[in-house]
This record gives sequence, structure tokens and C-alpha cells, in this order.
Amino acid sequence: MINSPLNQHTIAAVSTPPGNGGIGIIRISGEDSFKIGVELFRNKNFDSLTFNSIKYRYLYYGFIIDPQSNFKIDEVLIVFMKSPYSYTAEDVVEIHSHSGRFVLDKILSLVFYYGAEPASPGEFTKRAFLNGRIDLTKAEAVMDMINSSTEASHKVAAGIFSGKLKEEILEIRSFLVDLEARITAFVDFPDDMEDDFDLSFFLESFNFLYEKIDLLISNYNNFHQVRDGYKITIAGPPNAGKSSLLNRLISKERAIVTSIPGTTRDIIEESLNLDGFPFVLSDTAGIRETDDEIEKIGVTKSRELLEKSDLIIFVIDSLKDFDPDKDPLFKEIKKYSFITVINKIDLLEKNVSRETFFYENNKPVFISAAKNIGIDTLKQRIIKFFEKNFYSTESYIVPNKRQFFLLDQIKSNIDSIILSLNNNCDIELLSFDLKNCIDLCSEILGEDISPDILDKVFGDFCIGK
Ligand code: GDP
Repeated sequence: MINSPLNQHTIAAVSTPPGNGGIGIIRISGEDSFKIGVELFRNKNFDSLTFNSIKYRYLYYGFIIDPQSNFKIDEVLIVFMKSPYSYTAEDVVEIHSHSGRFVLDKILSLVFYYGAEPASPGEFTKRAFLNGRIDLTKAEAVMDMINSSTEASHKVAAGIFSGKLKEEILEIRSFLVDLEARITAFVDFPDDMEDDFDLSFFLESFNFLYEKIDLLISNYNNFHQVRDGYKITIAGPPNAGKSSLLNRLISKERAIVTSIPGTTRDIIEESLNLDGFPFVLSDTAGIRETDDEIEKIGVTKSRELLEKSDLIIFVIDSLKDFDPDKDPLFKEIKKYSFITVINKIDLLEKNVSRETFFYENNKPVFISAAKNIGIDTLKQRIIKFFEKNFYSTESYIVPNKRQFFLLDQIKSNIDSIILSLNNNCDIELLSFDLKNCIDLCSEILGEDISPDILDKVFGDFCIGK
């Protein structure tokens, strides 16, 4: 058994999602897990297993019973996994039962009665980490995998899970350790060093590291949307059909559609999966002069939203006059990336030329949100806009937010080292920044991390993972 402070108690939880389903899995981890499994399980002849003859990683068929009444709770499969060959690297038992709320609750309450304690969110993965089975970057990738709703976000998480980020950080750290050893040798034993301090070697090395870290940081800046979703905002004059378009794109009636202008006061966010990539779609309150206090807040929020968007879909009513030179909202939108959409073409007279809607080299997409016309063309335009990002993500290592902030600190430390070297500053002073960089690398890997941060990382997991 591996020793970790957490091993003192055995934990259990339902590891499958709540609700009725074909199979539900209860996971038990810790030194009492086999004892609990043996206590509650009977094979098809209704015999108990003998503790010493358990076959590990073997699926036993039988029943979970209430040992006090001998009542059969459910027909199950049970598997015993001996430490360290399990998810947590501890003794683990998994009970595969039918997934009804009553059945799972009943089995879990018996597991607790016979000695286990409820697992907190992410505690199984936290134990895998504390027991040294996975590093923190992998543990975080487990959560990203669970949360992946699209192929692209899954690919990024799978890359990190396979250890790509860990390898990169280990390489950077060993480089830093080597540089630190050389600098310390110069500082401590200047007379024993055969050569003079080779400034160009150190400058080259730190510049190399700077670029490596800068690349990871720009991967985060360029591709964090793969995790969080690319932000698309639907904007336009009141009643142009923004809510109708949002509903059409996500194929449901989420935003309230009415014919009273300014109905969408709050910002509505919905996720959308296009071509395997994640998007967060927002509908705005529109931007216009208003005396209504609530609406004013909505207008301010809309402005902020436009600024943060990766793309704006600007919706115009085909029947309403629109002057691109006078429209205050359009003036604002022109600062950002946008696609113009002319809505309600079902109401447009046949003899009206579509070219009247072309202006400033801006080729609009003609749609009818109500009649579902042109929606696929619009989706294609959106995909085309983001395409350059789409097809390159899988080969990139994309850090998460926590890792990004640590990498950013390493980058500024290295930056100040380079500055000091260029200014012939005392090399003794470099050690402090260098040690800091090494510690920050260790923090990324979770080797040198405070319990508070760990609790925060694992607290975002679901129970049972
Ligand atoms: P918003 O204020 O821009 O969000 O506009 P809404 O989506 O609430 O739509 C305003 C009105 O226009 C509603 O009565 C919709 O039913 C109507 N509408 C929206 N899109 C279309 C369309 O393509 N054709 C027609 N005929 N009516 C539409």
C-alpha cells in the first residue's frame, strides 16, 4: 500500500451520472475497500468470496446483499483492483449495478455503514495525484476530458493527458537547473572555473527558454477558446430578429421572441457545436439611447460583450431602412470582426435587388430566422471565419488558466534575467529569479503546491471522479 496522508480512510461515491440508466458504478478506494466488497457481495450460489482467493481485475457476477437481512439489493458485477494497479493506486472496488436512484443509494449507504466515507469532489483523482500515479497536468486534463463537449476540446485535453505538457515543463526545468548549477559554480568557486563567464552562452540559453515559454503562452491566448468556446455575439437593432436567429442556430426556444422592441434585456448565452468546435453564442440587448434604467444596464453589458467577442453577427431587418454611415451600432461594430446578416427575407418583395444590401465590400448573408432560410449558409460563413484556428489546434499544447498564469510569471522572470545579463549586472543576483522559475515549473507539475491550490483544482471536479 502506498503511504499518503489520505490513505487513512476509505472513500466511496457513485461514479456515474445521476438519473436512471442501464448501469451505475459505485467506486470504493482505500484500505478497507476489499473488506467492504467481500462483506456485501455474494456469488451466483450465494456464497461469500474468501478474502485470500480474490482474483484481481476479474469481473465477478453475483449479488449485493444487505448482510443483516440477507436481502438481495441488486444483481451486479464486481471487480477488485489491487494497489497500485488502480485509478487511485490504492485498493479499489467497483460495483456495477443497475442505475436506479434507490438501488445506488441503498448500496452506497451499505458501503458507508461498513466503513467507507463519502468521497469529496475529485477525491479519487486527487488520490491518484497524491499517490504519484499522475502529475497535476494529467489530473487537470482528466477534468477537461470530462468537460469536453466537442472533438476539438477533447483533442487538446487528450494531448495534455498523454503527457505532452509535462514533458515540455520537465525539459524547461532541467534546462533551468543546469543553468542554475553553472551560475552557482561561477559565484561560489570563481577561481576553479577554467573559462571566463560565457555571456553569449547564457544569453542564448535564456532566449531559447523565453521563446519556448512564449510559445506555450501564445497557444493559450490563441486556443483557450477551444476549451471555453469561441465567443460569438448577435447584435443589431431591436426587433431585427436576433433572438429568433439565436433560437434557430441552437435549435430551441431559449430567448423570448416578441414583437416589442427591446425584449431581450439580459444577455443570453448558449453553447453551440459547429463542425466539432465549441462556440458560446450571446444575444444582446442592443445598443441605443434609452432612459429606461434597466435597459441602460443591458446596453452597457452589450458594449462590453462586443469588445470580448471573437466574431459579431450583425442582424438587420430587410424591411427597415439602414444607413451604414449613420447607424451608431454599426459604427461600433465596424471596429471588430463581423458578418452582416439580412433577416426576414421571406417578407422581401421579389423585385428588390439583393445588391442594395451590399456596402463597404461587405457581402451579407440573407436569411429568414422564422422560416429557416439561409441558416446553413450562415453556419458555413462562421466556420470559414474560424477555420484557420480550427485545423491547427491538435498539434498544439494548450495550457489551462492556472498553468498559463504560472508560465507568464516564468516568462517575466526570464525576461528580467536577460535584461540583467545584457546590462552586465552581478551574476549572483540572477540566482533568485532562476530559483523562482524552477519553483514555478514544479508548481505547474504539482510537485510544489499549497494544499489550498490543490483543493481549488480538485474542488471543480465532480463527485465520484
Ligand atoms: P430581436 O428584438 O432582434 O431579438 O427580435 P426577435 O427575434 O424578438 O423578433 C422580432 C419579431 O420579428 C418577432 O415577431 C419575430 O417573430 C419576427 N421575426 C424574426 N425573424 C423573422 C423572419 O425571418 N421573418 C419574419 N417574417 N419574421 C421574423
